[in-house]
Amino acid sequence: MTLPFFPPDLFEGDRDVLLKLLHEVGTDPEQKFILGRRTAALEKELREMTGAGDVIACGSGTGALTLAVHALDIGPGDEVIVPAFCCQPVASTVANVGATPVFADADPWTMVLDPDAVESLITERTRAIMPAHVFSIMADMPRIAEIAARHDLPVIEDAAVAQGAVLDGRPAGLWGDLGVFSFFQVKAFGTAGEGGVVLTDRPELARRVRELRNHGQDGITRFLHHRIGHNSRFDEIIAAFQLHRLPGFPDRLERRAQIADYYTERFTPLRDRGVVAPPPGRNGRCYYVYSLLIERREDLRAYLTERGIGTHIYYPVPLPLQPAFAEFAPEGVRWPGAEQVSRRNLAIPIWPHMSDADVEYVADSVCEFFD
Ligand SMILES: *Cc1c(COP(=O)(O)O)cnc(C)c1O
Repeated sequence: MTLPFFPPDLFEGDRDVLLKLLHEVGTDPEQKFILGRRTAALEKELREMTGAGDVIACGSGTGALTLAVHALDIGPGDEVIVPAFCCQPVASTVANVGATPVFADADPWTMVLDPDAVESLITERTRAIMPAHVFSIMADMPRIAEIAARHDLPVIEDAAVAQGAVLDGRPAGLWGDLGVFSFFQVKAFGTAGEGGVVLTDRPELARRVRELRNHGQDGITRFLHHRIGHNSRFDEIIAAFQLHRLPGFPDRLERRAQIADYYTERFTPLRDRGVVAPPPGRNGRCYYVYSLLIERREDLRAYLTERGIGTHIYYPVPLPLQPAFAEFAPEGVRWPGAEQVSRRNLAIPIWPHMSDADVEYVADSVCEFFD
């Protein structure tokens, strides 16, 4: 049996549709390839599905974070609190507007940023808090929202990996003043290319994001630039493909959730052998990646490789320890939670098209290693 970590057949059932849509958009008399009626339809569907006041489609998840940071007028001299253990766009999008990413440590179990660390890093220069949901766990949004409200700070919620997740009845992406999803291939609602969205209930921020995604234009008067913006537009072929994929999304997400439930049930008893499974349950959980924390990570990884099971190590170096962000890592500061999860996380396959036998094989293999 071979179970690659990144399966090449994620869109196997949709190949013919993709070809058909390529032809359809390519030969459409309108000849509009970005920000057309299909993009508008996708935005509308996602508005209805999430309940967001507005959804603005853009070039990628990174593009969405860039637009969110820019829409809040964050710039030089400003600080944004971001997770130390995360995907690098949480820090680069802040640095790229000339502001300072301030790294908050991760909780060593849930791997998301620790609200206590966030609170202690707030200064008079702080302009926003940017929590991110990581792997299968949403950040502690109630506490972060409470801290942000107390300090009168906006929240940019990086929900790149958490589309479809719900915490205390509120969908991921709607906890922040601005939220973002990514459609990068392997994300929950991944696609055959690049894409992302910004979600917000605040009409003024939505208007700014819309302008900023297309060079500061308002979508009505061409070549009138209200502000300096970006090229972060959405592709019509991808919009058509995502519209086609959207009705199946809840089922695929549910399948991922079932696999995660099963894994957690199997792995929780291994705690005294140095295996930490994510917390069980469905509240505040997403199913982008299923990561365990393992003391003997390299040994388990080699064992699973031998058994044909692909694994993946995410973020082996915490962001503040990366050469790119050295100037934002204050001397003498440590991020022990982030360093620990960088050393221990190991992700195992969790794809909606895995069969029950595949899932059992993975779980059995992990358990056998510890027997
Ligand atoms: C993937 C990801 C992004 C960036 O999304 P892209 O669409 O790849 O640009 C941002 N934040 C997190 C947490 C991610 O996992």
